[in-house]
Amino acid sequence: MTIIRGATTVDNDSKEEIFSSVKSLLDEIFEVNALQKEEISGFLFSLTTDIHSNHPAKAAREAGYDFAPLFAAIEPEINGGLERCIRLMLFTERKDKNVKHIYQKGAKALRKDISEIYNIALDGPAGSGKSTVAKILAKDYNILYLDTGAMYRACGLKALRLGVDPKNREAVEKMLPGLNVKVEYSGGAQHTILDGEDVSSAIRENAVSMAASSISAHPAVRIKMVEMQREIAKSMSCVLDGRDIGSTVLPDAKFKFYITADSKIRAMRRFKELQERGETVEFEKLHAEIVARDKQDSEREFSPLVCADDAIVIDTSEMNVESVVAAVKAVIQSKI
Ligand code: C5P
Repeated sequence: MTIIRGATTVDNDSKEEIFSSVKSLLDEIFEVNALQKEEISGFLFSLTTDIHSNHPAKAAREAGYDFAPLFAAIEPEINGGLERCIRLMLFTERKDKNVKHIYQKGAKALRKDISEIYNIALDGPAGSGKSTVAKILAKDYNILYLDTGAMYRACGLKALRLGVDPKNREAVEKMLPGLNVKVEYSGGAQHTILDGEDVSSAIRENAVSMAASSISAHPAVRIKMVEMQREIAKSMSCVLDGRDIGSTVLPDAKFKFYITADSKIRAMRRFKELQERGETVEFEKLHAEIVARDKQDSEREFSPLVCADDAIVIDTSEMNVESVVAAVKAVIQSKI
């Protein structure tokens, strides 16, 4: 026997809403798993106590899913649990355990009531699409997004401002005691604070990218930043993007991905991003910089850019954002 799980939420507790939500959930489960009636042994629904209008089992029967026993039960109230949620365990005769579980609407978020603190590590080279995907995941799962690159960028910016060569280990180490990088959250976005000043925009300038890459190679810098990253990740569920999250910062992260893409495509993405910010950079120069940064990030001795052994690799060269997010979510849902 193989159990397929599913869940959905209803916006309001009406008969129509419950009928259409249950039907849509069952339709999707049957469609994506190519299920046949004969394979089904039973449906077990559970629903939160705030649903009164119509039981999901009744809705399922009315929607034509009446060929196997249906049962629905009220869940005990759980502090912090999802609201107006309908969950399903579908008992099938499948031998193959490789089935797709379906979570629709609000139930797409991981169940906060049962999930402990968990972290999603997204590593990969510059411009691979990590940060775009990370922001969407953080929003959809209602967890924190920690952009670790921004922290190294702030270190790089400080060096540039002080006229310190970011490659000069001794000079950088001398600068460290006076370096105060913090991350704060407001309006749903990360703000990177350098010595009390919000530098979230300044650190995005192209000149800062290479300085960040150079300065991040020094062990003393990394030790300081990694300690902060671990503190944050320990206290709440987050998605972190960077170069060494899955390998060094959080080797025990529950979900690890390595997001990559062809260097020309990555350079084109950065090119457009900078253009939108009003910065003019020559494409060829930008491409060369990205290749140089990849090399520097991968070849540094201490905590280089690597794909953790247990990370899932996604090459985004030919993928749009939606399909990358869908691929990442499919892995996450299959593991919870
Ligand atoms: O991701 P982003 O391009 O903002 O990162 C800037 C630089 O910071 C990278 O080129 C890399 O050298 C460094 N970095 C790092 N470790 C991380 C995140 C970024 O070394 N976890």
